Amino acid sequence: MSETLPASADVIVVGAGNAAFCAALAAAEHGVSVLVLERAPENEAGGNSRFTAGAFRCVYDGVDDLRTLMPDLTDEEVANADFGTYTEEKFFDDMGRVTEYRTDPDLCEILVKRSKETMLWMRDKGVRFMPIWGRQAYKIDGKFKFWGGLTVEAWGGGPGLVDALTKIALKTGIAVAYGARALSLVADDDGVKGVRVRHNGRTVDVKAKGVVLAAGGFQANAEMRTRYLGPPWELAKVRGTRFNTGDAIKMALDIGAMPTGNWSGGHAVGWDRNAPEFGDLAVGDNFQKHSYPWGIMINANGERFVDEGADFRNYTYAKYGRVILMQPGQFAWQVFDNKIIPMLRDEYRIKRVTKVRAETLEELVKKLDDVDAVAALRTIKAYNNAVMTEVPFNPNVKDGRGTRGLSIPKSNWANTIDQPPFEAYAVTCGLTFTFGGLKIDTSARVIDTDGAAIPGLFAAGELVGGIFYFNYPGGTGLMNGAVFGRIAGGSAGKRAGQMPGA
Ligand SMILES: Cc1cc2nc3c(=O)[nH]c(=O)nc-3n(C[C@H](O)[C@H](O)[C@H](O)COP(=O)(O)OP(=O)(O)OC[C@H]3O[C@@H](n4cnc5c(N)ncnc54)[C@H](O)[C@@H]3O)c2cc1C
Repeated sequence: MSETLPASADVIVVGAGNAAFCAALAAAEHGVSVLVLERAPENEAGGNSRFTAGAFRCVYDGVDDLRTLMPDLTDEEVANADFGTYTEEKFFDDMGRVTEYRTDPDLCEILVKRSKETMLWMRDKGVRFMPIWGRQAYKIDGKFKFWGGLTVEAWGGGPGLVDALTKIALKTGIAVAYGARALSLVADDDGVKGVRVRHNGRTVDVKAKGVVLAAGGFQANAEMRTRYLGPPWELAKVRGTRFNTGDAIKMALDIGAMPTGNWSGGHAVGWDRNAPEFGDLAVGDNFQKHSYPWGIMINANGERFVDEGADFRNYTYAKYGRVILMQPGQFAWQVFDNKIIPMLRDEYRIKRVTKVRAETLEELVKKLDDVDAVAALRTIKAYNNAVMTEVPFNPNVKDGRGTRGLSIPKSNWANTIDQPPFEAYAVTCGLTFTFGGLKIDTSARVIDTDGAAIPGLFAAGELVGGIFYFNYPGGTGLMNGAVFGRIAGGSAGKRAGQMPGA
């Protein structure tokens, strides 16, 4: 768009990630003008959504649903795959279990029940999807078997998703301003009337009949991290965009919005110990190291500290980042032997990886930087002796191949570490996004501290609180942003369309 911002738009959307674009597209369906404000320059725009693998957790009741969503699926691909199902019941169960039944029941119900139709809505808008052949399926007897309820990804991953949404928005007549940082909300007793924006070095007020906040969490703000998540979260690395510094949460709280949800919680994973402070789009999510369920993790004291095989990776990875952060020195080494090395996920084979390799365990433990090598060797040997080798290893199910007699058990996929060569990978905590945020109702209206909706203010995506607590089922962030982005945009567009002068 031109160098200057318009004086007004019917609906302003703050942010240009997945939730924001879904909101913008839904608002535009009401025939109103829509302006998207993105703080980042164009080449860094797209927020965390751009950093993702583009995986969406959505309900499907069988292969027919998937064929409807992904018409490009060939008969041969269908014949060679066992997609199973991911029913509403399974999605509910997963959300309940991983959030320890704290998820807001009304919002969770909407997330689950509208996931399928929202995916089809996105497809109708022009976003293309495909099965996650690589990461979520194993080939058994020549057939890809999908597991963990996560089956669909956007073409081209996160970058492909953001590019597609941006193109569709522009084609729809939605204006997108880059380098436009929302500073505060223009509001009075009647509600929100616009946004104060810093753009090209100037501060201007842009009027609007409705504003959708979709500007992400506060994970890239070290001060807020320490204040809300506590120490030593200022020492965590940020996996994604440097621009999600909690601006929109703060500007909503400033006009009386209600904070809600798990303010001391966040989604955090094992992340390369030497990764940069913020995400790097050239590497995307490949600094993550998610094959730990097949191996063990050792801390600076040379000890194991968590049940690496407690559940499928999808259900543990988002909470184990915190566990690693709480270890001495905020790091751990993941250890594997030659039986598992060929099975390691692709992210273990990137160039920018902190890795050591050795032919003996004695040699390996000496190479683990900052680790008590004697204790590490003792730990590996005790672990090897404890493995229930009589139970067969099966990566596709929780195989019950655990350990016996260890103070920290490993419940599944316990493989002995005894076949050279051995490899170890150093990880620290990578924070993905924060869980605390704004309270919304089922129409995505922002609720104030008295429990009333703030007229003209809507919110979606990472900055909404109350949906995720403690943990998160992989692929739900994009689905959550899409479902509530669509609802928020629809609510804002409808309201603006009914106001005079629309
Ligand atoms: C490495 C990585 C991998 C991930 N993989 C997946 C995955 O495969 N599947 C999944 O479901 N989730 C994944 N996630 C989580 C997912 O990225 C988020 O849940 C989701 O993208 C959040 O979308 P959003 O639209 O709410 O926020 P974002 O996509 O982060 O968009 C927020 C936007 O707001 C802008 N902004 C911030 N402040 C302002 C301001 N003051 N004014 C204007 N604009 C502002 C930002 O620049 C940004 O563009 C991953 C995250 C990371 C970091």
